[in-house]
Amino acid sequence: MASAPFVHCHLHSQYSLLDGAIKIDPLFERARALNMPAVSLTDHGNLFGVVEFYEAAMRAEVKPIIGCEVYVASGSRFSKEKREHDASGFDAINHLILLAMNDTGYKNLMYLVSKAYLEGFYYKPRIDLDLLRERHEGLIATSGCLSSMVSRAITSGQTDTAWELVEDFSGIFKDRYYLEVQRHGIGDQDRVNAELAKMSVDMKLPLLATNDAHYLNDCDHEPHDALLCIGTAANLDDPKRFRFDGQGFYLKSGDEMAEVFRDHPSAISNSLEVAERCNLVLGLETGEYHLPEFQVPAGRTREEVFAEQAWSGLRNRLRLAPDEPIPPRHAEYVKRMEHEIGVVQSMGFAGYFLIVADFIDYAKREGIPVGPGRGSAAGSLAAYGLGITGHRCRLLQERARSGHPLRTGEVRRRG
Ligand SMILES: [Zn+2]
Ligand SMILES: [Zn+2]
Repeated sequence: MASAPFVHCHLHSQYSLLDGAIKIDPLFERARALNMPAVSLTDHGNLFGVVEFYEAAMRAEVKPIIGCEVYVASGSRFSKEKREHDASGFDAINHLILLAMNDTGYKNLMYLVSKAYLEGFYYKPRIDLDLLRERHEGLIATSGCLSSMVSRAITSGQTDTAWELVEDFSGIFKDRYYLEVQRHGIGDQDRVNAELAKMSVDMKLPLLATNDAHYLNDCDHEPHDALLCIGTAANLDDPKRFRFDGQGFYLKSGDEMAEVFRDHPSAISNSLEVAERCNLVLGLETGEYHLPEFQVPAGRTREEVFAEQAWSGLRNRLRLAPDEPIPPRHAEYVKRMEHEIGVVQSMGFAGYFLIVADFIDYAKREGIPVGPGRGSAAGSLAAYGLGITGHRCRLLQERARSGHPLRTGEVRRRG
């Protein structure tokens, strides 16, 4: 039997690291089984899952809605002084849901998330209201969960502030702002929902029902709880550990959602309206490399420059003069280098090796510690010739000279 129509506009995949437990492929299987026309992705502060999510949605023929539950500083994103509250008395980290309606919205979302990491990182990647005023086009916003600015103002008794915030947000987003209602059996949510319902009538703003989905099925509640323990380095039997208040943070069916919000049918139907308004088409070029181009002098190819640098680096390592032939006792090196150069050139990785050699060289010149090499290419003779890898890292050499050698763990941490 078909379930009542409903679209989840608030959902955390496994890319909400150590917090969301929804894997992408099973999500779409379930969404199809529940006859959902669309599903959103709103991970905490990041867009890590977008490509996987979008491609899985295309395969499943379910409409993807790309979004993010961003963190918002109540003051400036540049202010990073107090952990709990900022100057305005609000928590320094607040939640907000953003959904991309189109290409402009998606580009703005990428901009906001990048700025959050580059400029606003304070425990979490945070944006601020200034950024939202600058880059809100093409984005739908909701008032958010219990950890949003609006909800926190309501639960802390600052109702006037909550109304002002909603005015601010709806002023920025115009007809793209929804008052988000959630019901997980938490008392504070009832207070928030009651206030939002009043705002909805007075300010003529639409309600939107969401379920803050963190795991796929109801029975995944316990493994999800264990995941939270891993995320917070606590034991399940620790009475004071972090856990979710309330219950039912799974992908509820349309019938279940309609039942939970039977007093607000518009909040359910508005989820379909949101889905209809979000029509992002991503032109993803996957299966190809998009490496930056390493610039070589005119008339030279990257392959030539790579081979030349690898050979001259090897000569240096062997302490040979530039035109001195490699002595027969090093025939093994010659054979190996010829082989590696051939492989790297034929795979089209010459530019990649040159780029890595370039930044390792820069780091060494600027006194930035680099390790002796790691990963699958650490055993490469070409990488050794290019100076990407070394037999001892600079830090080790300095400390050995100073008479205070490093312990292995220290090298790994710092190198
Ligand atoms: Zn939240
Ligand atoms: Zn959430």
